[in-house]
Amino acid sequence: MDRSQGRRTRDSAAAGPLQATAAGNRALDIEEPLIFEQGAEDRCGVDLPPPPDVAPRLGGLARSEPIGLPGLSEPQVVRHYTRLSQKNYAIDLGLYPLGSCTMKHNPRLNEKLARLPGFADIHPLQPEATVQGALRLIDQLAHWLKVLTGMPAVAMSPAAGAHGELCGLMTVRAALEGRGDARKRVLVPDSAHGTNPATAAICGYDVEAIPLNNRGRVDLAALRSGLDGDVAAFMLTNPNTCGLFEDEILEQAAAVHEAGAYFYCDGANFNAILGRVRPGDLGIDCMHINLHKTFSTPHGGGGPGSGPVVLSEALAPYAPRPWVVHGEDGFRLVEHDDDTAPGENPYGRMKAFHGQMGMFVRALSYMMSHGADGLRQVADDAVLNANYLLARLSGALSLAFEGPCMHEVLFDDSFLAGTEVTTLDFAKAMIDRGFHPMTMYFPLVVHGALLIEPTETESRDSLDQFVDVVTDLADRARAGDASAFHDAPIHAPRRRLDETAAARKPVLRWTAG
Ligand SMILES: *Cc1c(COP(=O)(O)O)cnc(C)c1O
Repeated sequence: MDRSQGRRTRDSAAAGPLQATAAGNRALDIEEPLIFEQGAEDRCGVDLPPPPDVAPRLGGLARSEPIGLPGLSEPQVVRHYTRLSQKNYAIDLGLYPLGSCTMKHNPRLNEKLARLPGFADIHPLQPEATVQGALRLIDQLAHWLKVLTGMPAVAMSPAAGAHGELCGLMTVRAALEGRGDARKRVLVPDSAHGTNPATAAICGYDVEAIPLNNRGRVDLAALRSGLDGDVAAFMLTNPNTCGLFEDEILEQAAAVHEAGAYFYCDGANFNAILGRVRPGDLGIDCMHINLHKTFSTPHGGGGPGSGPVVLSEALAPYAPRPWVVHGEDGFRLVEHDDDTAPGENPYGRMKAFHGQMGMFVRALSYMMSHGADGLRQVADDAVLNANYLLARLSGALSLAFEGPCMHEVLFDDSFLAGTEVTTLDFAKAMIDRGFHPMTMYFPLVVHGALLIEPTETESRDSLDQFVDVVTDLADRARAGDASAFHDAPIHAPRRRLDETAAARKPVLRWTAG
C-alpha cells in the first residue's frame, strides 16, 4: 500500500516554484509520517508502573499479540494534532460558504457558558434534586423552541438533524398505528437532502419522489396526485434546498391533511425564517431543528449535533420520552412507563439520557444573547447576504432559479458550458485562492450545482472579497485559461485526490507493513 498518496513530496514535479524541499518540509510546516509510522511499542506518553504479574483469567480469549497502537510521547501527540489542525480549514479562519450546512460564527459567549461546571460537570444519573438548574435550562430551551415555531410540544433528545427526522417519522408511525392506520409510503421532493429519503427507508416506508416545478419549488399538482390513503407523510424542506421559500406551502399542507397524512418539515434552514415565520402557522405537524446550525454550535466532520423535534397537537401524545415537567418540588423528568399520564403514548426513547446538554446550553445562550429582535435580524441578515451574492454573482455564474432567494443561493454549471472546466475544477481552484468551496453537486435537481450560504455573520467586505475571487475564476474559465483549474489545488497541504480510486479501491484500514 502506498501511504504517501497525495502527499506533497510526491508532487514536486508539478509545482515549479512551489517545489517542496528535499525532505518535503516547507514554510514552517513539517511533512510528518502517520502516527502509526512514528510510534514505537516501547514508548509511552506517561510513566506507568510495571503491571503486576497476574495469571491470565481469559483462557483462550487472552490476547497473544500486541494490538498495534502507536506508542508516542506527549510532545509527539501534541505536535501531531496541532499540525493536523493547521492543515484544516475552519469557520474561525474565514468565510465558509457551504450551502445547507450553515457554517456561521459561533459566539464565544456560548462556549463560556457551556463550560460552567454546573452544566459541564454533571452526570445524567445524578439525583434530580441536584440538577435542577440543568432541567430548568432544558425546559426553557424547549419553551423558546415552541414559541419560535408556534408548535405545542417538542422532543428534545434527538442527537442531530437526521436523528430528528427519524424521531419525527417514528412519531408519525406511532400516531398512525394509534388510529389503526398502517400506511406504507412517504413522499419526498426531488431536491431533498439525502437524509430525508434515507430516514423514510430506515423507518420501513417506500419512498416516492415528487418533482419540482420550473420555479424550483415542489410541483403542487404532482404532490396532489401522489397523495392517497397509503401515504404516511410528506417531507418538505422550507426554505428548500434550492434556497427558495415554498410559497404554496399552505396548499401543500391542506392537500397532505386532506389525505390523512402528516406534514414533516426538515427545519435545517430555519435560520432563514427565524422570528419571521412560525412553521406551526404553515400547517406543519413536525419539524426537526438543527440546533448546531441555526443556534450556533461548532460543527462539521460528522458532529456534534442536536436535533429537537417540535410536534403538533395531533402528534404530541406520541412524543418519545424523556421530557421535563414542573412538579411540586421543582423540575423532574418523565422517563418511565408508569409515569405516563392518560392520553400519553410515547413510543419509547431515541437515545440514552436526555439529549445533548452542552448544545442546549449553547443554543439558549445564543437565543438569550440575541433576544427576539436579534433572532429576527439573524434571519434578515442571512437572507440579505445571500441576495447580495445573488445580485453580484448572477453575471459571472448562472443562476439556477429566478430570485430573490432566502439564506442561500443556487447556481448551476451552465456558465462553464463550452469550457474545459467542471464544477469540481472550479471548487478546487477556489482553495488556491484562499476560499473554502461552496457546496457542489447538491441539490441534484440542477446540473453541476454550486450552492452558496454566506450566513449573516459575514461582513460586506468579506463577501466582496469572495465575489472578486469567484468572478475572476469564472472569467478565466470562460477565457479558456484552464491552467488555474486542472492542477488545483497546488497551494493546499494536499493535492487533488484520485476520487475514482477512493471510490473503487477504498483503503479503510491501516495495516502494518
Ligand atoms: C444538515 C441537514 C440535514 C441533516 O442534519 P444533521 O444535523 O447533519 O444530521 C438534513 N437536511 C438538511 C436540509 C440539512 O441541511
